[in-house]
Amino acid sequence: MDQGVTIDRLEIRIYRAPTAEPLVTSFGAFRDRPAVVVKATDRDGAVGWGETWCNFPTIAAEHRARLLETAIGPLVLGKAFVNPQAAYAELTRRGRILAIQAGEPGPVGAAIAGIDIALWDLVARRAGQPLWRVLGGAGEGVVPAYASGINPSGAGETAAAARAAGHRAFKLKIGFGRERDLANLRDVRAAIGAENRLMVDANQAYDLATAIQVAAEIAPFDLTWFEEPMLADTPLPEWERLAAESPVALAAGENLCDPALYQAAAQSGAFRFMQPDMCKWGGFSGLLPVVRVFRAAQVTYCPHYLAGGLGMIASAHLLKAAGGDDGFLEFDINPNPLREGLATPFPRVAGGRVTLPSGPGLGVQPDEAEVRPYLTASAEVRRA
Ligand SMILES: [Mg+2]
Repeated sequence: MDQGVTIDRLEIRIYRAPTAEPLVTSFGAFRDRPAVVVKATDRDGAVGWGETWCNFPTIAAEHRARLLETAIGPLVLGKAFVNPQAAYAELTRRGRILAIQAGEPGPVGAAIAGIDIALWDLVARRAGQPLWRVLGGAGEGVVPAYASGINPSGAGETAAAARAAGHRAFKLKIGFGRERDLANLRDVRAAIGAENRLMVDANQAYDLATAIQVAAEIAPFDLTWFEEPMLADTPLPEWERLAAESPVALAAGENLCDPALYQAAAQSGAFRFMQPDMCKWGGFSGLLPVVRVFRAAQVTYCPHYLAGGLGMIASAHLLKAAGGDDGFLEFDINPNPLREGLATPFPRVAGGRVTLPSGPGLGVQPDEAEVRPYLTASAEVRRA
């Protein structure tokens, strides 16, 4: 299959949807839900869609979009690449000096990831094949998923609604004080039943001593994982110590964003689950090799994702392409018109599983009329 790509034009769009009720984490609340979308068009008019991470602080959206428009996007225009990996390698090489000079490896990495996703969507769409198949996935286009973003307020009711909607695995936010966290765990476990999976996410809330204590307190709730109990850059020996003490398996990875860090974390044995965010770093090209390292280390890949629908569906494709039948797709259950609106036809969850769209590429695209009310800015860069 021809994977060559020459990009003529990039459109960068910022969407921002209001939230009726903020999504709450231990580090802060999301008062609106942004998304930065990348649309790539090649010299023959073929199109691909991508998404760049910007979810918190939500003001990140404008900065990522400007980086794409002025610094990173122009690096890819008009060049004939043999495949999207070659474009990714070139962007990574040339983006490195910008990242160092600006002191911004995170924003630069996220901008590159959005372009990479769009390029892969484009080549698969042009070939008329679902992207996960192009990337080597086999079998049925189905992945396990879990209901994510269960707020500390009304957690039991939220979990019950998610169960009724077809979920069979659930992740609760913790880090809001012992009494509240344990009460929420009791409510959620009661709402989902003993047979379903429950995970918790502390969003880097604790130091080592506190994390050890919390792990013991939450263990009776039969948890699949304890996510980001400590700061993501905590030295590995501390993670190893926590893993040795914790009755609950550890998960992390949404804040590592570097192949060497992923490799070291996976090989440390401290983590049972690793959760890179493909829109934050790596896209398909950067993460597929990383996910192979996870498999070799017997660490389960579970994509991190909490933004618009394009990135979520891209994450499902990467999970499937990586052979991740044991991993779980993060499925944000909070109302967000940029999830369904940016990715139609949006797949439903049934029996805890999501069936990937059968169309070519990502199999979804924005419903322009649906998301237009949330469009706050757009820019276009063309080949000179
Ligand atoms: Mg998390």
